[in-house]
Amino acid sequence: MDLGSFLQPDLILEDSVLTLTPEIVQTYGLKGLVLDVDETLVPFTVMEVSPELRAWIEKMRQFVDLWLVSNNLSEARIGGIARSLDLPYYLGAGKPSRRKIRSALEQMNLPVHQVGMVGDRLFTDVLAGNRLGMFTVLVEPIVHPGVAVRKHPIRNIEVLISEFLGASIKPKQHRVTKLHKPSDK
Ligand SMILES: [Mg+2]
Repeated sequence: MDLGSFLQPDLILEDSVLTLTPEIVQTYGLKGLVLDVDETLVPFTVMEVSPELRAWIEKMRQFVDLWLVSNNLSEARIGGIARSLDLPYYLGAGKPSRRKIRSALEQMNLPVHQVGMVGDRLFTDVLAGNRLGMFTVLVEPIVHPGVAVRKHPIRNIEVLISEFLGASIKPKQHRVTKLHKPSDK
């Protein structure tokens, strides 16, 4: 498998993680999600969990096992966020290293292809998830509570490099609204 394939998310959301729904995870047969923290769930500048995120976690945990796996080294930040959401976590994961995600997968005790790796970055979250054979989901970074942002220089460079290497990072081609839903009948 070439690097472009390793950088190719299985699903690209056009908005923040808050738009990932139980219907979407069920469509792809997912039983668990490993969630990146910084700018996927909580903006860098914020220590507290937004009411929107809390409501999203409470909804999703009824359908999937949830783990937080962060590259951040701060126990105060990542541990505090995890405890406030009552979720298990690893910090200092060094993604795209697989080690701590693999530990989370072992504790979830689910087949790897039934676990989604959800994050805002291609070279850390998506690359790590694809290296393990997980279902990878790229989301827009969340910079203010509840609001996704589209201008993000490092991420934009990662998108350009990934496309140069052959990955397709165009949300239009992966619009979740195109998924067949029972209500469409
Ligand atoms: Mg992140």
